[in-house]
Amino acid sequence: MTPILARVETRMANELQEVVVEAGSEHSPIFRNLKRALPHVPFTVVEDPKASWASLAGAHDPMGSGKKRLFLVRHRGEFLKKCPGSEGQVCCNYFVVNFASNCPMECSYCYLQEYLANNPALKVFSNMGDLMAEADRLFSRQRRFFFRIGTGEITDSLALDPYTGFCAEVIPFFAAQPNALLELKTKTDRVEGLLGLSPKGRVVVSWSMNPPRVIDDEEHLTASFERRLAAARRCQEAGYRLGFHFDPMIEYPGWEADYREAVERIFATIDHRRVAWVSLGVLRSTPGLKRIMRQRFPSTRLLAGEHVSCADGKMRYFQPLRVSMYRKMLIWIRAAAPAVFVYLCMESKEVWQQVFGFAPSCEKELGNQMLARE
Ligand code: SF4
Repeated sequence: MTPILARVETRMANELQEVVVEAGSEHSPIFRNLKRALPHVPFTVVEDPKASWASLAGAHDPMGSGKKRLFLVRHRGEFLKKCPGSEGQVCCNYFVVNFASNCPMECSYCYLQEYLANNPALKVFSNMGDLMAEADRLFSRQRRFFFRIGTGEITDSLALDPYTGFCAEVIPFFAAQPNALLELKTKTDRVEGLLGLSPKGRVVVSWSMNPPRVIDDEEHLTASFERRLAAARRCQEAGYRLGFHFDPMIEYPGWEADYREAVERIFATIDHRRVAWVSLGVLRSTPGLKRIMRQRFPSTRLLAGEHVSCADGKMRYFQPLRVSMYRKMLIWIRAAAPAVFVYLCMESKEVWQQVFGFAPSCEKELGNQMLARE
């Protein structure tokens, strides 16, 4: 029998202890949405929220504690930035917009555990108007450039959407842009807020996918494989283009059969002609992240096996193993969805060459190839 696993909704309903609001943010649409969606949670307005989130540093598990209190604060500085990519790896020319920081789910391998170790508070930014004004200035200044924008760099794009209503704010804005595409990347099935909106071809909703076994063992509080796929289908029927990210791919005895079945189930459910892209990337870690994983998820199986240090300082499977995994996936994807665009995430030109027989000469070329599928 499939185990019944707790999901992010359960944590938000039972474990969220407080919403801390920075004074001034209580006039924002996000505040109104949070109040409506979380009637059981106390709200506290404070002048300086930093003092509250600084106290997390003394907690037994700062990252875990950080996920149980939500901060609604103004974002200072720029919202949009070029995706940092990874030293020596082919980049896909992507911009990220951070509307929130940290994530209420618990994947054992999540790099945020290390990246946000000194700043683990779960934050949502209240000044959405500033975000859209900044994006508008950038897009209008460079009309000949097509921007691909993602929101899932330091949070999951949809996990908080039923509470914040973020998508209802930004999707109409992106739908009206002639030279930008928004990607919402998730491991949830929280798509209710998207279905009544009209994306006009300017929004890709994408799912990080792994076989059910990996999801159940390592991606705690996320939606099951079946629920992600059902949500993807609902989005496709509502007019959204879709993306799928097999990232991080995990190698274990029997991985081939599981991943092959996952690919086949996706493309038996989804019309591949409306899929914008599929990406592949293997598990990445660092010595620091491994230490945190060992403490926070002692039963994880991801620490076993050999990982080698790469040019960008991250540890991955041996290159020949990675190439072999990508080649097999490519064969299964091509068999199920011949025309779908596939790319590698955070891999070197050498690996690209061995998998595809070519490597993009620069990040612009890769970005253009993706957009040529419009
Ligand atoms: S869903 Fe993404 S951001 Fe959230 S815990 Fe998992 S890997 Fe981290």
